[in-house]
Amino acid sequence: MLRPLTICLALVSFYERCAGLYALRERLEERLTELGKIGRLEGGGVSRPALGEAEIAARRYVGQLMMDAGLSVAVDDAGNMIGTRKGRLESPYVTTGSHIDTVLNGGIFDGALGVVGAIEAVKMMQDEGTVTELPLAVINFADEEGAYNSLGGSKFFAGSLSARDLYQSKSRHDGSIYGDKVGAALAGDRIARFTEPIKAHLELHIEQGPIMEKEGKDIGIVTGIVAMNWVGISLTGVQSHAGTTPMSLRHDPVLVGARIVSEVREIVKSYGEMVGTVGSFKVSPNVSNVIARQVDLNVDVRSLSMPDLTAAIDRIQKRAKELADQEGVGFRSDIASIAESTPCAKEVVDAITEATERLGYSCMYMPSRAGHDTESMARVAKVGMVFVPSRGGVSHAPEEFTDFEQAHRGVEVLKRSMLSLASGS
Ligand SMILES: [Zn+2]
Repeated sequence: MLRPLTICLALVSFYERCAGLYALRERLEERLTELGKIGRLEGGGVSRPALGEAEIAARRYVGQLMMDAGLSVAVDDAGNMIGTRKGRLESPYVTTGSHIDTVLNGGIFDGALGVVGAIEAVKMMQDEGTVTELPLAVINFADEEGAYNSLGGSKFFAGSLSARDLYQSKSRHDGSIYGDKVGAALAGDRIARFTEPIKAHLELHIEQGPIMEKEGKDIGIVTGIVAMNWVGISLTGVQSHAGTTPMSLRHDPVLVGARIVSEVREIVKSYGEMVGTVGSFKVSPNVSNVIARQVDLNVDVRSLSMPDLTAAIDRIQKRAKELADQEGVGFRSDIASIAESTPCAKEVVDAITEATERLGYSCMYMPSRAGHDTESMARVAKVGMVFVPSRGGVSHAPEEFTDFEQAHRGVEVLKRSMLSLASGS
């Protein structure tokens, strides 16, 4: 039988663990909220495009948090902030990170959780006096959202984009040039580039979709980042009077465009997990009583399988051409951009799975259907991602929200995964 004293001590230790966790969750909430105040708009959204005034101020805040967690902070030529922590060995590194730039009128979690959460994970190690075998680095990647160059910082970090090309990029918000603005981000200790070998790279991120919430899961273990393809289609018809042109004599690009939209859905559905969207549809001249002259639309298709994606794009283009021919409408199609799929490494997925199980959190495996810095990092490291649920699946909007307890579970999983990956070479 348990003595009252034993029960009492067990209760105290349980209480202390709860209180400790509560304090850590509070600190994460406080820091994310504080960062979210920088660049905050009246309606509640946040605008912190890369190298703008707000993003530069946010960098100073993040730099302080990094130093408070015992990290040595340096900035590379692209403006990536790199906070390193020594291990017993000098290399290879285990790295983690995300971004603190935002889209215009975005939320406070996208990217920020992966930076502040990573710093929190290291801070917890520091407070516990944990020394890892391998050194660690927390990275705040520059310009993930592409004010100048999408994933520009991480592409530079991984060597797939030169400083020259990055510096020539032009802002789509104010027309400024990266090279002219980056100086403000280069305060403090400088390195040209991080050249140490990296064993594994992890990113904690909000899901930005509704699936985890629907499934009621704490942690999403990402299996890969989907491949993405953009196809631009231009249809040229014959502009004429909406009243006087008989139906049999029309060459209407809007009709063809509408049929293409519906075909995209049918073709994409035949591949199971694939998603496809026509989110941009421009009609010229866009007047009620005029049969249009021109329609320009853009098809966005994403899939984990590159061969499926290529096959679907080919079918969409062929079918769109057929539909244009039937209506006697001119057809032009260009592939505007392609991003290959990025598989996550089994070793990293296994480390995240084990960490999640040990902590007793529910989890699911899932692809990431949004692009992330991790896809750049896959060039130089084995990669993996930890997702936490997004309320209502909303992201890139002021309503973006993740319960702070859920967010902190993500931090705990990140920390344990890093510890296991950093426990040996
Ligand atoms: Zn993000």
